[in-house]
Amino acid sequence: MIEQELTHLVLRSKKIGADQSLVVYGGGNTSAKGRIKDYLGRDRDVLWVKGSGADMQYGEAVDYPALYLEELLALHKSDELDDDTMVDYVTRALVDPSARRPSIETLLHAFLPARHIDHVHADAICALTNHEDGESAVREAFGKGFAYVEWIRPGFHLSKLVSGLKDYEGVILAHHGLIVWDDNSDKCYQKTLDAVATAEKYLATLRKPPQAEFKHNDLSDAQIMELLLTLRGKIGKKQVLRRDSRLRAIADRSDLSTVLDAGAASADHMLRIRPWSIQT
Ligand SMILES: [Zn+2]
Repeated sequence: MIEQELTHLVLRSKKIGADQSLVVYGGGNTSAKGRIKDYLGRDRDVLWVKGSGADMQYGEAVDYPALYLEELLALHKSDELDDDTMVDYVTRALVDPSARRPSIETLLHAFLPARHIDHVHADAICALTNHEDGESAVREAFGKGFAYVEWIRPGFHLSKLVSGLKDYEGVILAHHGLIVWDDNSDKCYQKTLDAVATAEKYLATLRKPPQAEFKHNDLSDAQIMELLLTLRGKIGKKQVLRRDSRLRAIADRSDLSTVLDAGAASADHMLRIRPWSIQT
């Protein structure tokens, strides 16, 4: 059945989004391919892909706009497409022109032939590649089954490059994340989990960072409340703010300034976290 693929996609994406070690808010994207009847009743192949900035954890079908696959695949023969032109073409391929804007990585999902595709920015994958010798670490952890791609900004060039790697089990994007695929949604999800577990298992064999010797002073709950309210006032709009302490172990390191000098560690850090945390 047609819409079943979309249902599978939404359910799978909720499971992925619920695990913040796979994607943080709005990061990563997933897709499915299937067939619908268009406005004239014709059968058309479509790609459902996560809307730009949508949060997988809470995403519903409306957050996965459908695009005519034929229109997207026609772009594969282009040699070069700048971002603006690519977004323009992709927007024209929307089944519903008023639908949510699809992911900037839409063509990557279109050009790979599999029915289901997961692209996550998993912590373990970034940890494996966020250093000078990422390729060796990937080879040691994964063997030759996964392709390794040096950092390239998401866009047409990356989409086309990845389409040429479809015979691998999956793709590791340095400083960025993981791409796996399967014609079955459950198997696709399992491949994401397995690949991340493989990276975690390898990382667990490495030397652990030294125990933190220095701890920053904690703000009291009252101070945190005041800080959040002040920040909200400065942002100037009604916005729910929350505290996330998962980077605490890094913030407590005695060599924190060295860590900060290294800059943003991944695309998600650049977009959402930046390398700095609040210190007292
Ligand atoms: Zn990405």
